[in-house]
Amino acid sequence: MPDALRAWLSGQGEREYRADQILKWIHHNHATDWSAMTNLTELLQRKLSEEFEFSTIKLTRKQGSVDTTQKFLWKLSDGQFVESVLIPASPSLYGNKSDRRTLCVSTQVGCAYGCKFCASGLDGFKRDLVPSEIIDQVLATERWRKAQDGGNEWPVNNLVIMGMGEPLANFDKLMAALEILNAEWGANIGARKITISTSGLAPQIRQLAQQSRQYRLAISLHAATDEVRDRIMPINRKFPLAELTAAVEEYQQAKNGKITLEYILISGVNDALDQVKPLADLAERMRAKVNLIPYNHVDGLEWLRPKESSQDAFLSALTGHGTIVTLRREKGHDIDAACGQLRLRTEKELAGVAD
Ligand code: SAH
Ligand code: SF4
Repeated sequence: MPDALRAWLSGQGEREYRADQILKWIHHNHATDWSAMTNLTELLQRKLSEEFEFSTIKLTRKQGSVDTTQKFLWKLSDGQFVESVLIPASPSLYGNKSDRRTLCVSTQVGCAYGCKFCASGLDGFKRDLVPSEIIDQVLATERWRKAQDGGNEWPVNNLVIMGMGEPLANFDKLMAALEILNAEWGANIGARKITISTSGLAPQIRQLAQQSRQYRLAISLHAATDEVRDRIMPINRKFPLAELTAAVEEYQQAKNGKITLEYILISGVNDALDQVKPLADLAERMRAKVNLIPYNHVDGLEWLRPKESSQDAFLSALTGHGTIVTLRREKGHDIDAACGQLRLRTEKELAGVAD
């Protein structure tokens, strides 16, 4: 990217060092437009605006207040919507690391994988995001934040690829985006501060193991036996637990990285204590910790989160097997934090207006 920009600049008869200035304005100063880049000549600002679109996403809706989880709904240039969620540091979630600022980003419009409990897949799959649309979610969030607090607070320094879509189904574009978000001249977010979540695409997990960067991996497990997983995640028929586990073990061997198993607790579906032993065994094989997440209700779906007493029983049974486990009492539950819901609601409202 810096090379391509340098080549374009020299083609325009401009000095190549301008590339560093431009990238700094975009990624470090979070400029709001080409015209804000005050150390460039007006001529260069104009050439840039004629050649490149500054940003391809626009904030259409935001939920949440400055001190809490905030959800952004972005409109893409073709009118589609995607969501990002900004999660502030929280001692209860992350020990005492109060300087962590996490952004959850989307990688696709909709999702083709159709997990039964998830809002993102309800309307099917629309399209992959291109790298600039993935990167823009981070930059546009920073620009918004700067407008709120003058940029005095620390920037996004932790990324979770857990928004709408299946990240590993958009593998190449995601890798291209993460390379820029990871680069020093880009957002400069460490690879170990980037977690990719997948519903279990075994071949792509193996592909990820071959990458040079040490991204973190989260597996949306949500069931510890094929019988239960088949009921809620159609992907399990394609890549059953044995195959998924083997791919994750390969990843673990290649990366020696920290792996998280995400396990949503859904009442009467996967919260019975007979899942605990198989879950503990899988976690041990994959050398993973388990993140229990009480299910967030989705409008129009019948699934419910279990009572707190059942959540606690599951947690303590799992702990009893020696598994490293956290129970994440979901932040932003009140603002449709389960990704996909804000988009669905907005699209329904727009359809209502159009009727
Ligand atoms: N497609 C990827 C990443 C996006 S989903 C994946 O499935 O991992 C991000 C996480 O949110 C997944 O663990 C997903 O299972 C979970 N999720 C989906 N709907 C949810 C809901 N209603 N409540 C809580 N978590 C949910
Ligand atoms: Fe897609 Fe992930 Fe939702 Fe499953 S949980 S439908 S893979 S976004």
